[in-house]
Amino acid sequence: MALVPFDDRDGLIWYDGVMVPWRDAQLHVLSHGLHYASGVFEGERAYSGNIFKLRAHTDRLIASAAILGFTIPYTADEIDAACRQVVEANGLTDAYIRPIAWRGSEQLSVSAQQTKIHLAIATWAWPNLFGDNRMKGVRLGMANWKRPHPETAPTASKAAGLYMIGTLSKHAAEAEGFDDALMLDWRGQVAEGTGANAFFVYGGEIHTPVPDCFLNGITRRTVMSIARRHQMKVVERVIMPEEIGRADEVFLAGTAAEVTPVRQIGVHTFNPGPITETLLRDYEQLVRMSPAAVEERAPI
Ligand code: PMP
Repeated sequence: MALVPFDDRDGLIWYDGVMVPWRDAQLHVLSHGLHYASGVFEGERAYSGNIFKLRAHTDRLIASAAILGFTIPYTADEIDAACRQVVEANGLTDAYIRPIAWRGSEQLSVSAQQTKIHLAIATWAWPNLFGDNRMKGVRLGMANWKRPHPETAPTASKAAGLYMIGTLSKHAAEAEGFDDALMLDWRGQVAEGTGANAFFVYGGEIHTPVPDCFLNGITRRTVMSIARRHQMKVVERVIMPEEIGRADEVFLAGTAAEVTPVRQIGVHTFNPGPITETLLRDYEQLVRMSPAAVEERAPI
């Protein structure tokens, strides 16, 4: 499939408060965000014209920036409105939305107190990659890179810099023919995928690692909420890699991945099963409900 480069597309991007033609949404090569990874972003999805859990994403964007020591110069209401506006301006109802905030080019040194904070929001159509084949499941390799200690990196922030180990891990997994990588943390405990949280089903219970050094995903919390509504038992605990092989079902959960069954992790294989299917279908229905119905049915 031919790649359409992300800097050469039709459409509009919301950039520092103004809607600009897609190809004009440029920044200088001496931007602090590029050199020192002083950037934070979000990944959101709109379904049937509504951005799912928009305020939770906006709150996390603002919180991610605060963790990196900067303030986005827009309120949560303004950011929500801008996200909706850019989806509408591009004539989309079902789309992926990417807000990103970063430090500008006024100062290029480790210290960056004087830099201007920018915010851009782009959106494009990005259907679920697996479509009708979703229940088939994806194959994960084990990553060599580890999720760092929270005193080593700002792990609660959706910070651009943290994706360095994600890309390295994903590339290594892809080179071995896998779809994605499962990452352990610095202690050797199971952590997450490179862009989604991981769940393991043991004897009808849903187990997931404690998110103390990686994102406590919005989809993760939504799926837990759905599961509890179904009276399923959800357990957050330390999961060691030795336990992976005993799982009855495994799945990933994230905004882009949605609920994605896993059929292999390293040498272990799994059959995507009924619990994963129930949660996948329920999530699929939930995301198309009105924002009020979403909050009523799946508070996080
Ligand atoms: N972990 C990582 C590393 C991610 O990039 C994402 C996607 N934002 C997630 C987990 C899942 O988060 P969410 O469900 O909020 O999209």
